[in-house]
Amino acid sequence: MTAWKSINDIANDVQTGAVSALSLVNQALETIETNQQFNAIIATLANRARERAKQIDDRVKAGEAIGRLAGVPFIAKDNFLVFGAETTAASNILKGFNAPYQATAINRLEAEGAICVAKANLDAFAHGSSTENSDFGTTLNPRDPTRVPGGSSGGSAAAVALTMAPFALGTDTGGSIRLPASFTGIVGYKPTYGLVSRSGVVAMASSTDVIGPLARTVEDAALVLDVMAGRDDLDGTTIERDTADYSAFSGAIKGRKVGVVKEYMGEGLEPGVRKSIEQAIDQLKRAGAEIIEVSLPSLPAALAVYYIICPAEVSSNLSRYDGQRYGYSFKEAKSLDDSYGKSRSIGFGKEAKRRIMIGTYVLSSGYYDAYYKKAQTVRTKLINEFDSALAEVDFLIGPTAPSVAFKIGANTADPLQMYLADILTVAANLVGVPSISLPAAESQNLPVGLQIMAKQRHDRDLLAFAKLAEGIIK
Ligand code: GLN
Repeated sequence: MTAWKSINDIANDVQTGAVSALSLVNQALETIETNQQFNAIIATLANRARERAKQIDDRVKAGEAIGRLAGVPFIAKDNFLVFGAETTAASNILKGFNAPYQATAINRLEAEGAICVAKANLDAFAHGSSTENSDFGTTLNPRDPTRVPGGSSGGSAAAVALTMAPFALGTDTGGSIRLPASFTGIVGYKPTYGLVSRSGVVAMASSTDVIGPLARTVEDAALVLDVMAGRDDLDGTTIERDTADYSAFSGAIKGRKVGVVKEYMGEGLEPGVRKSIEQAIDQLKRAGAEIIEVSLPSLPAALAVYYIICPAEVSSNLSRYDGQRYGYSFKEAKSLDDSYGKSRSIGFGKEAKRRIMIGTYVLSSGYYDAYYKKAQTVRTKLINEFDSALAEVDFLIGPTAPSVAFKIGANTADPLQMYLADILTVAANLVGVPSISLPAAESQNLPVGLQIMAKQRHDRDLLAFAKLAEGIIK
């Protein structure tokens, strides 16, 4: 396996001419090629990537400053609009769709010299926790190919774990960056809602969707965030970024108040995961953190709330795929109505249809009060509980997932069982707070993720603390 230096060092090497951007792109493409059996990648952008690398190398020779990510290869989840390959969101209904514009996040990374080399596999439309919902087949976990890599950004996580690139982009609507990071032993960062523009990213549930990096270290993740963060006129939900750099770390563990979420350490946790998280908590305590038990009484309702609000928003966001504007269209349609119906029923997979049906049901006039409205009320309660807890402590911690990576096929027959994989991640999305998954001590020889959350807009503080924690929890 080929290893990568830190993103900072790679960019320095390219800028000083010590290595060429082209050799880095070739290294990434070769690593993708030799690991095809993991099915982490949907498409490569070989031509465009090599062309951009050559331009960067020429500019370096001409003495130009390239940027903070000079020549750094990366991989984007296939729900980002990127030039040079189709954007399918791993769904048959989008096969053949070439984006007419690029995602803001991609443009910002490219402006600093980064080079997108490939599009990663995912659960179709990011609906799922294992990549088993992909119309391109399941991604295998690099640590044990009989297991899932988590989802929905499973391809992005596997790609980083397989060292195909130093970092990848994912989206996190209910845990899709953190869960696969946890299952593959890497770092996954979900920023504060609104911190990174979602323009040019296929929408799932717009009130919780965020995008973020998957990387091997907190430092790399923070640098990538720093390049992407901040307001964008093309996404009205974006917020002002910090004036200081997200990768300018400061502070110490000593004296920080860390709330262990009681509801996250309860029944249903795999014993090995519990042990690993308890050990991490102990290590933080020995490093001087003040450990306090915190209770968020509405947390047990979070999963139910998420699986009402998320499908409601999905049912609305997926209505644009009508067979007329993007991707697949049923050719032998007898009328426009027939074309809408057949294009959607052939193009969408089972999980998208399930969510459209649930979402339409909970929004229907007869059931709106009983489901959607009630879910939004509990969501507000949850927000208030997080606000009060985070007024008492600096960070909330617990496991990222209740188990290590599960076996392929173990949860596919029972959607509820699959949804339970998200039980510890969805709350951060509903509330909008930043959350990171860090590799903790392994269990059964498989990775375990420690989840740390902070107040909205406290991304820099969270990343600085996570970097310190990263150094001591393994
Ligand atoms: N697994 C969750 C779901 O299926 C979260 C997905 C995501 O974050 N994109 O909805």
